[in-house]
Order: sequence, then C-alpha cells, then structure tokens
Amino acid sequence: MNQFQDEKKCHFSCRLCTDNNLRLFYTLGQKCEFKYYRCPNCKLVNYDLTGGLDQTQYIDQTDPTDDESIYNRDKDASWQFIEKWISKPGKFLDVGCGTGRLLYLAEKAGWSTHGLELSSEAANTATNTLGVKVTVGNFLTIKSDGFQYDLIALRHVLEHLENPIVALKKINHRLKLGGYALFEMPNIDGIDLRLKRLMTNAGIHKKRFPDNFKPGHCNEFCRYSFDLLLKKTGFKLVRWETYSMKPLVNFIYKRLHIGNKARALVQKLPS
Ligand SMILES: [Zn+2]
Repeated sequence: MNQFQDEKKCHFSCRLCTDNNLRLFYTLGQKCEFKYYRCPNCKLVNYDLTGGLDQTQYIDQTDPTDDESIYNRDKDASWQFIEKWISKPGKFLDVGCGTGRLLYLAEKAGWSTHGLELSSEAANTATNTLGVKVTVGNFLTIKSDGFQYDLIALRHVLEHLENPIVALKKINHRLKLGGYALFEMPNIDGIDLRLKRLMTNAGIHKKRFPDNFKPGHCNEFCRYSFDLLLKKTGFKLVRWETYSMKPLVNFIYKRLHIGNKARALVQKLPS
C-alpha cells in the first residue's frame, strides 16, 4: 500500500455500524488536516475526532423577537412543520434551544415547554426576552428532570454529538410512548454539497478557513444512515424532507429530497 492509499484509510470504526473499512470522503481546514470518512456499509460520514472540535462558533446570538431574521424564519418554518404533523399540544423539550424562539412559538400554541442550551448567554436571552424556561446544560450529561415528553426537538444538534446512538437512546428514554422527535441536520447527499465536493476534488473550488478553525460536526447523515440510526434506537420515521429558506428552491427540495438541509419527524416505538 502506498502512502496516499494509507492516508485515505481510517484508523477507527464507524460510530453507527462498527464497520472497519471507512474511506476518506472529504477534508476541512487550510491544510486539509480535518478528515471525514464515509462508511461503505451504513453511509454515515464520521469525523476523525482526534483533530479536535470547536462548538463555540455555533452560539445563537439572534434576537428572538426579530421577525425578519433568517434564523428566526428558519425556526418559524420548523414550527409550521411540527404543527402540520402534530395537532394536539403536549409537553415539549427543545434541546439546543438557542435564544428560545421555538419555545415561544410552542407556548403560544398551548404547549408546556422546557429548553436546554449549552450557552448561558443564549439561555439568558431566551428567558429575559421571552420569559421561557431554559436550563443551561448538556443533554447527554445533565440529570433527567423526571418528565416524559410528547415532543423533543434537536435542530442542528445531532451532527454535533459524538455518539448518535447514545443520543437517540437518551431521547427515546425521555419520550412518552408514541412521542415524537424532530431533527434538523445537514443532508450530506444534498446536491449543493455534492457539487462542492466535486469542485473541491477537481481543484475548482477552495474554501478558506480561519487560522484557528476546528470543525463542529462529529457525524454527517444522509437518509440511509439516519434510517439505520432509527432502527437501532427504537424509532420509526414519520416524515423526511429536505428544505431551503428560498421559497422556490424549498418547493423543489421538499418534494425531491435533494436539498443540503434535512428535516425529519420520528416517533417512539414500543420497546
Ligand atoms: Zn457504518
């Protein structure tokens, strides 16, 4: 095996299916030093965590009352999606709630809500601006509040968690039987991301990275790997769609599922 082939081969196994034949899929960083490997079996893209992580770049600083903010309109779209599929209000936990707009929308619709947020700054904004209840903490390590929820949302959170199986088992444990979870995440097989990878590999596109850049995404999903994750953790898929904040593009992506952002509603199955 030559040196190039050796660099493409991965030294760890897939976090979803434990396959040992992961292959280099793409890199990030000025020197291509952060490596993402794809599993040929389950298609999960696994980041080599030895490169290090930086989650501070994702702290939500949006004013949650600003109706024109694209981030808030994104959350409004998430809530519209929830209301389309779940008609009866219940108990709602928003994991990674940021500055709290989704909690606010849920309360307006009659839900009882609780937010969890890593950033105390974002949590304070949510509580002080909207009056919603937010606890600062990490969903994977915080002690359970003892409640069982009808709905748990993880918007752009799943890809930041090192072990997705542990995360979904924990969500399953916190849901009532028949309860729902909403996930939003990148769709690694989205057409824009495919094109960017093609252009990067052909040397046409080179992304610039800040000097102190480190990735935040531990795992990247597609529909196939997400389906396997659900099977392993006691959920069934209710709805998968891709989306965009541009209305015409969104119309197409919702139907053809080729967008680079995915939205999934899943339901807890009897164990
Ligand atoms: Zn795998």
